[in-house]
Amino acid sequence: MNGSEPRRADAPAVRTVLGDISPADLGVCDAHDHLFLRSPQLPGQELDSPSAAAAELAAFREAGGRSVIQWTPHGMGRRAGLLPELSKTTGVRVVAATGLHQAVHYSAESLEQLRAYGLAALFVRELTAGIGESGVRAGLIKVAGGFHGLDAHARWTMTAAAEAHHATGAPITVHLELGTGALDVLDLLCGECGVPPHRVVLGHLNRSPDLTAHLRAAESGAYVALDGPSRAHHATDWRMPDAVRALADAGFGDRLLLGGDTTTAGARSVHGGPGMPHLLRRVRPRLVTDVGEELVEQILTVNPGQAFGVRWT
Ligand SMILES: [Zn+2]
Repeated sequence: MNGSEPRRADAPAVRTVLGDISPADLGVCDAHDHLFLRSPQLPGQELDSPSAAAAELAAFREAGGRSVIQWTPHGMGRRAGLLPELSKTTGVRVVAATGLHQAVHYSAESLEQLRAYGLAALFVRELTAGIGESGVRAGLIKVAGGFHGLDAHARWTMTAAAEAHHATGAPITVHLELGTGALDVLDLLCGECGVPPHRVVLGHLNRSPDLTAHLRAAESGAYVALDGPSRAHHATDWRMPDAVRALADAGFGDRLLLGGDTTTAGARSVHGGPGMPHLLRRVRPRLVTDVGEELVEQILTVNPGQAFGVRWT
């Protein structure tokens, strides 16, 4: 990893697993992906192999990638202690996450314990002191909405995320269930809880290919992270370039982010799937056809630095 510029203490920074860096040093970035992931919802498809994670990162770097923003939240097998070494050996900058996914990804017992500990306190601890005993600090808070709405669990986690944002400055990334519910999420996070819209990153919006709904979400000022491909979302993945073009045409090119969102071992490039390199091998040239090289480079380099570079407090 080369030549970081000197950074003022109060300047925006991206919090990587190796420390805070200037947003300009992020380079070509996969803005939504996973190196480790475990959930009862994905039995037998866990991302839990350090060697496969290293190989995938190396393949991404070989394709021109320089940084990966990981969205795996608390309690889903993050293996945070391994991330600094993986980042060092592969030369790819890595950002880890705190936060909480939908209730189906956790046992009732673990949610009970989190309720007793205090969710906002946990998020703040992972953002400022580190994840578990690893000393590795998270650089974002990941939460999740529901299908066209928010249940009590989503309201609990988003309220805690907003509290942790106000305490630290951390960006909040949101899993939108099948791409829906963005306006409900924005009403809660920004309307009720006072999070500035530009500190919110909406994920998976393209999985519901309603271009008008995309525009309404982008008008708020939030970042829009489009992703894929994946087998589970093959039916709508082909609409992603349409979404990029429509948002760019409407003047929201500076709000766009792109990610691979590799969630299963079989989807990794090192196992024959698209994986992280696909973003640069195939998605990048495809989008250049639609919106031109300059905007695509901005989406891959400048925009992630602005979305994930914050003034930490
Ligand atoms: Zn994801």
